[in-house]
Amino acid sequence: MYKMEVPEIPNLIYYAIPFFILTLIIEIIVSAKEKVNVYETKDAITSITMGLGNVLLGIISKGIVFTILIIIYNNLKFFTIPFVWWAWVLIIILEDFAYYWFHRISHENRFFWASHVVHHSSQKYNLSTALRQTWTGSFLSFVFWLWLPLLGFHPVMILAQMSISLIYQYWIQTELITKLPNCVEAVLNTPSHHRVHHATNPQYLDRNHAGIFIIWDKWFGTYEPEIEKPIYGLTENIGSFNPLFVAFHEWIELFKDAFTSNISLSKRLLYFIKPPGWKHDGTGKISNDLRKEWENKKGE
Ligand SMILES: [Zn+2]
Ligand SMILES: [Zn+2]
Repeated sequence: MYKMEVPEIPNLIYYAIPFFILTLIIEIIVSAKEKVNVYETKDAITSITMGLGNVLLGIISKGIVFTILIIIYNNLKFFTIPFVWWAWVLIIILEDFAYYWFHRISHENRFFWASHVVHHSSQKYNLSTALRQTWTGSFLSFVFWLWLPLLGFHPVMILAQMSISLIYQYWIQTELITKLPNCVEAVLNTPSHHRVHHATNPQYLDRNHAGIFIIWDKWFGTYEPEIEKPIYGLTENIGSFNPLFVAFHEWIELFKDAFTSNISLSKRLLYFIKPPGWKHDGTGKISNDLRKEWENKKGE
């Protein structure tokens, strides 16, 4: 019987850590020299702590996710895709497609937002913000990738590409790179596109969900170019540097909303399905409402 060679691919994130540290130090030095106020010590320490927690919890979550992917791959796959060059080209594109929808739904659905909000909870935008990662999402968000082992991509290839995508998204988390040549900005996710993603300006809300390729946002109508200066953070900032609070505050708020008020079961469930900002009594404002208000004001 044909037996496919599965290469041993180490956890690329571990290899990227020295590069993360080195570039972070360079950014601190350059921004201090240019006297641009991109760093705040407490904020950066919290971001780095969130990153460390994410990597440590990743030892558990990666084990669980890998097991689930392997079960699907071994029992349900439609094709057997070997480790060849065209398979890597395909996985770069398809994994990025999965990432786009994971990321978009993480902004448009309160349940997934409760874990993703961590990455947006800093009011600063620098390389350390890239390390500000969820402690809970890695146990949930893999559902957006389950169709890849079903198609026949080996879980080793999928997890390797997920790490490559995460590493790619590190360098774009900076204000020091303004805009890149048009041919780059047209295809790839860049610092400029990702600054828009982290901004609370109404026109920028829930825009530019790209991982590596910005084309998904352009195709699916969520692209916004960087014109106005971005104001970073959340529409309501959390005002805390406590890593435990950063990790769990939105989960607590979500469950409070869904369980403590005197409302019907269907409305309770809607809190887990509707976008962040939605309220059962119609008083809430979601990103689309804020954008519309801004557009109306602009048109006046
Ligand atoms: Zn996001
Ligand atoms: Zn980011």
